[in-house]
Amino acid sequence: MRENLYHMQGDEPPRVATKRILIVEDNELNMKLLRDVLEAYGYATITTAEGAASLVLARENRPDLILMDLQLPDISGFDAVRQLKDHEETRPIPVVAVTAFAMVGDERKALTSGCDAYLAKPILLRDFLELVEKFIGGAGGQRETAAAP
Ligand code: MN
Repeated sequence: MRENLYHMQGDEPPRVATKRILIVEDNELNMKLLRDVLEAYGYATITTAEGAASLVLARENRPDLILMDLQLPDISGFDAVRQLKDHEETRPIPVVAVTAFAMVGDERKALTSGCDAYLAKPILLRDFLELVEKFIGGAGGQRETAAAP
């Protein structure tokens, strides 16, 4: 538990910026679910329903992580990821693909277009949060392992 680790390190809370996650999702219910869960766990979120807008938001905000729905109304999530990974400024940002359909070949396609990980809906919250933490640590900015001796 993170709270305990912080106490073990002393009284000062860790001085780290809140981690920011860009959520690209055109389904309102899925967007609300992802945003609510991440905010409940202390992450800040930036949201958009469109692939083209996600490119601009990623460049302007440099989020710590991007969650990319693969079926979007304008450009496909695959294309958005390819463009994110094509640009030096946004290339280092990890991208987790999220897809509504367990389409055969989607995972492979997601990974070859540059996604760092793939998550199929319906999303299991525990798996989802574990994946987020794996890439960027807890919301406070410290990976749990950073506190280990
Ligand atoms: Mn969609």
